[in-house]
Amino acid sequence: MFTLRDVQKVYAGRPALGPITLDLPAGRTTVLIGPSGCGKSTLLRLLIGLAGPHKGVVAFDGAPVTPETARSVRLRVGYVIQDGGLFPHLTARANVTLMARHLGRDREAIAARVDELAALTRFPADGLDRRPGELSGGQRQRVGLMRALMLDPDALLLDEPLGALDPLVRADLQAELREIFRALRKTVVLVTHDLGEATYFADRVVLLRDGRIVQEGSPGDLWHRPADPFVTRFVQAQRGPEVPA
Ligand code: ADP
Repeated sequence: MFTLRDVQKVYAGRPALGPITLDLPAGRTTVLIGPSGCGKSTLLRLLIGLAGPHKGVVAFDGAPVTPETARSVRLRVGYVIQDGGLFPHLTARANVTLMARHLGRDREAIAARVDELAALTRFPADGLDRRPGELSGGQRQRVGLMRALMLDPDALLLDEPLGALDPLVRADLQAELREIFRALRKTVVLVTHDLGEATYFADRVVLLRDGRIVQEGSPGDLWHRPADPFVTRFVQAQRGPEVPA
């Protein structure tokens, strides 16, 4: 669904990403993982054309992502960011439907789609007419997810979607998100720095360090067949707390 060929992104004279070559297959969940600053968000922004590569080619569904094609790519790819990126002065419903209204979609179809998405994401109906500031963090993330799914995209990109949530809300949303990914069978690319979360979601994990791919494979590969000592250190640094006696 997405391919990167020898892609490099430079900020302020320093490579933020690449050069990397990567295929993100359709209908699967790929998790991008790695320490802060390793280039995960940059990779997502390149996929959707929010940033352009300095070298190499990013393609979506066989066609290069360029400034000219980015808009049509964005209509087919949903994007969820950590704090939801919602407009604070708009209600949840208005946030979710903004693009569909802008595109002149049928009002009844929009209303029906909102009801469908609220059921899918278990968002309470009485929250739809509240503004983001009047919702909990978990509810805001559900609104961000509904917005990303509104146009029934082929692919869904999620950048640390659960990072700001407390552990119980996070665990609930993790379980629900995994069900949603399975039910929708979409191409999902999820960014996290948490290996437990990566293992929970991923068909395939891509571990990045300093803008380069260190290892790609199943979650089990990272644990049992680490490609180099960095992978071992990364895995060991994320083991759970020792249980006190
Ligand atoms: P991650 O998502 O893995 O934490 P990022 O993709 O956000 O990493 O950043 C990768 C590198 O690129 C970092 O060194 C970061 O400081 C740099 N970077 C990212 N975005 C910008 C930007 N807009 N301007 C300058 N540097 C940036």
